[in-house]
Amino acid sequence: MVLINENFLQLQNSYLFSTIAQKRAAYQAAHPEAGIISLGIGDVTQPLCPAVVAAMHEAVNEMAQAATFRGYGPEQGYDFLRQAILEHDYLARGVTLDEDEIFISDGSKSDTGNIGDILGAANVVAITDPVYPVYVDTNVMAGREIKILPTNASNGFCAVPPDFHTDVVYLCSPNNPTGTVLNREQLTAWVDYAKREGALLLFDAAYKAFITDPELPQSIYEIPGAKECAIEFCSFSKTAGFTGTRCAFAVVPKALMGQTAAGEKVSLNALWNRRHTTKFNGTPYIVQRGAAAIYTPEGKAQVQQTLAYYRENAKLIKSALTDLGFTCFGGEHSPYVWLEAPAGMTSWDFFDLLLEQLNVVGTPGSGFGPSGEGYFRLTAFGSHEQTAEAIERFRNYFGKK
Ligand SMILES: *Cc1c(COP(=O)(O)O)cnc(C)c1O
Repeated sequence: MVLINENFLQLQNSYLFSTIAQKRAAYQAAHPEAGIISLGIGDVTQPLCPAVVAAMHEAVNEMAQAATFRGYGPEQGYDFLRQAILEHDYLARGVTLDEDEIFISDGSKSDTGNIGDILGAANVVAITDPVYPVYVDTNVMAGREIKILPTNASNGFCAVPPDFHTDVVYLCSPNNPTGTVLNREQLTAWVDYAKREGALLLFDAAYKAFITDPELPQSIYEIPGAKECAIEFCSFSKTAGFTGTRCAFAVVPKALMGQTAAGEKVSLNALWNRRHTTKFNGTPYIVQRGAAAIYTPEGKAQVQQTLAYYRENAKLIKSALTDLGFTCFGGEHSPYVWLEAPAGMTSWDFFDLLLEQLNVVGTPGSGFGPSGEGYFRLTAFGSHEQTAEAIERFRNYFGKK
């Protein structure tokens, strides 16, 4: 019989979203009249903007004519999209990159998971906690040793470099689930750590479009020296509603080197290019045309309109809950508000209370890692109306005590 990869047996089963769905369904069945509102949505809800839709329609028409039909494209992505990214995401922020340092893909989930293909199994990996579970799970699958870097109220849920050596560090900023953002000083401390330790930073910037403060970096490459120690992951998912459409990119600078056990230096860009062109056959032309449309003047304005819609929800949630005495993190430069459950309550206790007393569903923080216990994630991806109604229920329940 075939042997399995036994590392998969080390994975912890995640019952987070299925348990939430079960509890919600059970409550609804027992209380058919209850109007349950979800502030637990981890997916965008607003449609693709008109500029994106028009570009995709046009691309479909091109596919319908032999003269303009496209088959396999370059695995790394079309020039028009890579150039638009270079210009608008990087040059506009003072970062110069070459086109062959950008790799278009079908998602940052795939990229952050697949990057391990080019990294040795003996690397020790540091992962902040709580965080997006993909980093831990994919490294468990690869059998790597993982060191957890806890974040909590005392460090403002912002990861600081540890006082021990690691080879690879995953950073997610703005963070999912805590909504916290690393500023220039904090990122500089990480780049300094990476250079001192010879470590590789894997920087997940999936939520960078939510940043409004011009002083906050949107790319790790805004920090001097980062091109020698960091890979960056960006996605059109949260920026422009591509969660169902699928388009993202990884940046692997050519200055970035790894080494063999014998000490020979090897370009990570060359390895990723080999991996990407071997295991991936390109993001659809139609999708890349849609993604490129977010960089046109109309596309930019429309994307900002949608982001403003979510930001307004985040602001309302955060300000109302803070007024009610909750300790909150995030909610600015992020669609996530991270709040502390009332004293003595676990994340799941608080989930049950919100479901039963307010008919509001959120996400227990403990589902994102041990340091999330006692915390709770609310998201800004709902409608204005539902968000406002949920907040009214918080005011009615928690305001009168
Ligand atoms: C949503 C999300 C992504 C984006 O994933 P896609 O596969 O590009 O949709 C990446 N990282 C984090 C932390 C996320 O929450």
